[in-house]
Amino acid sequence: MADNNFKQVGPVKLPLNWGGTVKECILRYFEFHGERYLVVEVGEINTANPQPTLIRIQSACVLGDLFESRWCDCSWQFKEAKRLLFENGRGLLIHGYDQNGKGLSLENHYRVYAEGQAKHLELLTETFDFLGLKYENRHYDDIGVILKNYYNISKMKLLTNDPVRMDFFKTNGFEIERIGIQPPIDEYNETELRVKKEKFGHLIKM
Ligand SMILES: [Zn+2]
Repeated sequence: MADNNFKQVGPVKLPLNWGGTVKECILRYFEFHGERYLVVEVGEINTANPQPTLIRIQSACVLGDLFESRWCDCSWQFKEAKRLLFENGRGLLIHGYDQNGKGLSLENHYRVYAEGQAKHLELLTETFDFLGLKYENRHYDDIGVILKNYYNISKMKLLTNDPVRMDFFKTNGFEIERIGIQPPIDEYNETELRVKKEKFGHLIKM
């Protein structure tokens, strides 16, 4: 995992409106060598509590989260995770602010879509291959440090469909249970979700 050489700003208290419910939450800013993470604490994060902490790690997706693109399920997953965290009353949302499009960068995210559409490439993976880009570019070292060294969390329930993310935390000594987050599949997101499932082993029912 990464070293402890990170910057932290906070706590900041804000009333957040997630799915029509307003709750006062604590927010913190973390920065590791220029990579930024925004953490929202829902309820009291007390590591003396023997119950595992409910956690959602959300990578930024500007096209999905800000503009509500239906091509990916990011926006849906983000809203659903926020709803579940409020319903649970206790947990952490960790937002990878610099991990847009699975760490692709914003510019390359546009490039992948533009090339795919201009060349009528059928599968998203063909576009990545054509541009010489990797589909998955994220790492979880910094988040591991936030959880283990800052919050002293070792037991978690993780809201995810991604087996790579599960493997990382298991390998790094976390006790982890997966809570699936099944997106509704429709004509807009089917291609992307099929790639996630068939090429990258995401645990999605299709
Ligand atoms: Zn997305």
